[in-house]
Amino acid sequence: MDNFSQYLDLIEDTGNIGYWHLNLKSNHLFWSPGVYRIHGVSSKDFTPNLENAVKFYHPDDRAELMASIEKAITEKKGDAFDLRIIRADNNIRYVRSSFKTELDENKEVIALFGIFQDMTEQIEKTNEIKEAHNFLNTVIDYVPDYIFVKDRDYNIVLGNKAFWSLYKQPKEALIGTTTYEKYPEKEAQSFIERDERVFTIGEDEIEESITNNKGVTRAFITKKVAFKRQNGEQFLLGISRDITQRRLYEEKIKDYSAQLEMRNMNLERSNQALEEFAHTAAHDLKEPVRSIHSYVEMILYDHPEIDSEIKESLEKVMSVSWRMGQMVSELLLLSEISQIIGDFVETDLNKVLEQEMKALEARLEQANAVVEIENMPTIKCHPTRIGEIFRNLIVNSMKYNKSSKKIIEVGSFDDNEKTVFFVKDNGIGIKESHQGEIFKLFKRLHGKMDYGGGTGIGLAVTKKIVEMHNGRIWVESKKDQGTTFFFTLS
Ligand code: ADP
Repeated sequence: MDNFSQYLDLIEDTGNIGYWHLNLKSNHLFWSPGVYRIHGVSSKDFTPNLENAVKFYHPDDRAELMASIEKAITEKKGDAFDLRIIRADNNIRYVRSSFKTELDENKEVIALFGIFQDMTEQIEKTNEIKEAHNFLNTVIDYVPDYIFVKDRDYNIVLGNKAFWSLYKQPKEALIGTTTYEKYPEKEAQSFIERDERVFTIGEDEIEESITNNKGVTRAFITKKVAFKRQNGEQFLLGISRDITQRRLYEEKIKDYSAQLEMRNMNLERSNQALEEFAHTAAHDLKEPVRSIHSYVEMILYDHPEIDSEIKESLEKVMSVSWRMGQMVSELLLLSEISQIIGDFVETDLNKVLEQEMKALEARLEQANAVVEIENMPTIKCHPTRIGEIFRNLIVNSMKYNKSSKKIIEVGSFDDNEKTVFFVKDNGIGIKESHQGEIFKLFKRLHGKMDYGGGTGIGLAVTKKIVEMHNGRIWVESKKDQGTTFFFTLS
């Protein structure tokens, strides 16, 4: 490189820069090689003048270009513009030109001399940054939490829609100010101390109740983080969530559970009192009832000469007192079931059923009933009480059955990780409308003495034992089409 113009060329090329000169007298426009390059034309095919040069500019920008030139001429001083040109290949470039005026001896503008620079890359980059910035702003505006950034002097420099709405003031009114003055002095002081701590420690997260100047208190959970920009400037990012409603719900739930606990306790107490009462009543009644039965029996035995009418009445007293004694013993049993907690052991139900079958053998044979028992699992339960469940259900299956051959099936299956037990019969069935009734105490669907008689306690006892095992009992049946009782034990 041995001459100046070569250096100039290199500068123009690498800097995407050029220069131009417009002689207003001769209307001659000079472009340096750099200006040609930026316009995408060659000096061989194109001779610039003001008219054809203006045509390179974007139609929307031409007026501004002319205004800038005219202003320079009238005000006799240089100007600058940032405008778009459309190159010969239709490519849009952003160009910047700063120019100055040349005056003659009468101080009239005779020429303009300008530097011309292709700014496309810089402007596109700036636009990209702007776009990213807008995108981020839109995103944070949609976040319902309060987001804000403070500078080292605690002034707000950025916020989202939710944050501005918190103060019911536009963004412009809040940017560059601190928000401390919106709070009573004591609160404001604690904010300053905390913000300062975040700048020192780096971050902080707390749940806080804040009362503003209008006396409104709300609960927030706030996280603050300190960060530095590359130039060393310090900032604090805060994200705050309004948890007032959540707190209210939590309080309500707490209240409800306290009330529920109280009710449960009262219920348990009254249940216990009732059970104690039933137990005492049944226990104390057992003896007098038995005595009535024995005395009447004695009278009948000792006085065979007794009038037949009186004898008949006394026999009725005997039967009623026997039935009463039965009810009292079963009531006693029912009141004792709640005491079985803690007596649960691993139990092979096959063995339990074997024993029950032995006890029922004669009755089953007499009734022409067969019990088909599947292989049963081993479970943790109260063995005697579980035996009572199976016995009650099997006896009922046999009692409430008019089939010449009574078939009773006992088994179990798994359903939803629970073992379901069943006792199925081919008996008289239960009308759907009665199915909810049968588990109630003393509830019978038939006359006192029908189907071998009964007290209506059996299923109430069964249900209670099932519930003491945290289980559930239900029935599926149709009149005249047999009945299946199902129960779980956990
Ligand atoms: P009880 O047998 O002493 O009457 P339960 O409580 O055992 O008392 O039964 C209540 C009522 O439910 C019975 O009176 C009967 O009407 C009905 N029931 C019970 N089991 C069956 C069954 N397997 N089939 C038809 N009805 C039944």
